[in-house]
Amino acid sequence: MNDCIFCKIIAGEIPSVKIYEDDDVYAFMDISQTTPGHTLLVPKQHVADILAYDTDLASKVFSKLPMIARAVKNSDPAIKGLNIVNNNGEVAYQSVFHSHIHIIPRYSSADTFA
Ligand code: 5GP
Ligand code: ZN
Repeated sequence: MNDCIFCKIIAGEIPSVKIYEDDDVYAFMDISQTTPGHTLLVPKQHVADILAYDTDLASKVFSKLPMIARAVKNSDPAIKGLNIVNNNGEVAYQSVFHSHIHIIPRYSSADTFA
């Protein structure tokens, strides 16, 4: 679809660092790493946000989340936990209107990343 940057990433028209891909979802490194390993999980289907999911799409995306979160965590023994964040709507700080879930590694209780 159109001018959507994440649709272009999924289509390979814009380069990305791929973490995982199957028929339904694509996971890749966020270009602006809140912490090292910051990953985005997106449905391949263009939907603006979670409010637009039906149960089938919810199942396709959220059933993959634990496996991808484990892969991120297991990528570095220094990762002690993860924030899983999802923004819906401009007032909620969504800036790319192709639904995505942030997986943000946390390295220690003292880490000072935002
Ligand atoms: P939001 O604020 O919508 O929840 O998050 C959008 C995220 O997409 C941001 O963390 C931003 O860094 C990331 N992003 C924006 N453009 C690109 C891009 O071209 N490539 C990648 N890999 N990430 C992007
Ligand atoms: Zn899109």
